[in-house]
Amino acid sequence: RRNLDSEDEPSKKVRVIGHGQAVAAHYNELQEVGLDKRSQSRIFYLRNFNNWTKSVLIGEFIDRVRQKKSDITVLDLGCGKGGDLLKWKKGRIKKLVCTDIADISVQQCKHRYEEMKSRCRYNERIFDAEFIQADSSKDLLSSKYSDPDTRFDICSCQFVYHYSFETYEQADMMLKNACGNLSPGGYFIGTTPNSFELVKRLEASETNSFGNDVYNVKFEKKGDYPLFGCKYDFHLEEVVDVPEFLVYFPLLEEMAKKHGMKLVYKMTFREFYEEKIKNEEHKMLLRRMQALEPYSTLGDSRLVSDKPDDYEHAKEF
Ligand code: SAM
Repeated sequence: RRNLDSEDEPSKKVRVIGHGQAVAAHYNELQEVGLDKRSQSRIFYLRNFNNWTKSVLIGEFIDRVRQKKSDITVLDLGCGKGGDLLKWKKGRIKKLVCTDIADISVQQCKHRYEEMKSRCRYNERIFDAEFIQADSSKDLLSSKYSDPDTRFDICSCQFVYHYSFETYEQADMMLKNACGNLSPGGYFIGTTPNSFELVKRLEASETNSFGNDVYNVKFEKKGDYPLFGCKYDFHLEEVVDVPEFLVYFPLLEEMAKKHGMKLVYKMTFREFYEEKIKNEEHKMLLRRMQALEPYSTLGDSRLVSDKPDDYEHAKEF
């Protein structure tokens, strides 16, 4: 984030009734699943691979910030049930603000944090945390922080930003929340579906949808892809069955400039994997997290292939 002297407040409150409530209701209803059940899941390796990708990304940017300062403050925008809490603990950050539109998810995230804290050994350190339920595409988060002057070194937005691309106002508000309270030199990092890949697969399909027996993506029509509100229904076994929106990355990059941001890098999951796997530590982590396993319960399914480009729901960031 570049240093900006003044930041313009939105001139009017955005009041758009959209899909936010449906998204929140969906995530609220998702059950937390135990480790045993998770390991039998047909998307076990896909989940683990996504998790590995987030771990490496988060670790990389914590290291970048730590070269400049030791006390790191993070905003986890769209924290869900707290799937990344352990990553922040490993990163030895000082403070975390977790926020999500789904209130039950936020409560579960808080509960998970408290459990984690209670399990800490007496000399073990865990970050301070604060939990906020809010629609980041409509509400201004800074008015909800316990300290309105909070400045973040990192905003992490993992598999969330695409929900905001329903309208320009929502996408811009989420960007403002992500970037508006970053310290100069701070980072906005994230993962989001690759719209180029989605459209490519749609165009190659004979119908308005594509997928396999584990996932399905369904558009309303082909050939017309508006910059905002280009909705598709995403179904993934056990996890998601919600409306999402295409994010046209060049537009996101332009919009982010308004919030003082400069693109550091963007990669597909495949490119990220190919670069990061050269590092021995990341390779070991991949094994430890059981993120890739060529033959498994899914037999010949492409979802568990050892080639990352075979992951059907490719993402980019
Ligand atoms: N970031 C978490 C992770 O990687 O485990 C959760 C990802 S989950 C795929 C997407 C999350 O985005 C859900 O928890 C959902 O409630 C949240 N979300 C969707 N729209 C949102 C919005 N407008 N404001 C805040 N959170 C939102």
